[in-house]
Amino acid sequence: MHDMVSFSHEDAQEEAMTFVVKEACIGVNDQSCIAVCPEDCIVSRLADRISVIDPDRCTDCNVCFEACVFGAIFPKDQVPPESREFIGLNALWFEDKEAVRAHIDEIIAEQNAAG
Ligand code: SF4
Ligand code: SF4
Repeated sequence: MHDMVSFSHEDAQEEAMTFVVKEACIGVNDQSCIAVCPEDCIVSRLADRISVIDPDRCTDCNVCFEACVFGAIFPKDQVPPESREFIGLNALWFEDKEAVRAHIDEIIAEQNAAG
């Protein structure tokens, strides 16, 4: 867990989030969830290093939650307190991908510094 940087993105899109991918995906991003999502609404690009879920297309079917063996996907309302910034990060990705990538870089840098 990181605590040097934090992130908040409070807007309607964040409110709309359904399922959220949290930090356990960073550095894994094996796309197992993408392969099983029946709505094809989980996205990831090489630059992201984390998958994100499109709340406008997600139908809350729970399939990705069960498929992620890394425990990286949570229903929004069950995201642990220390990971709640990822609700905003998931939401922001659809508006400003570069901002999210920059913040993921910060998280990775902190993880590396912590060893
Ligand atoms: S299955 Fe889990 S670890 Fe793999 S890409 Fe999806 S959220 Fe990330
Ligand atoms: S809950 Fe279902 S529809 Fe939503 S992202 Fe997961 S697999 Fe896709």
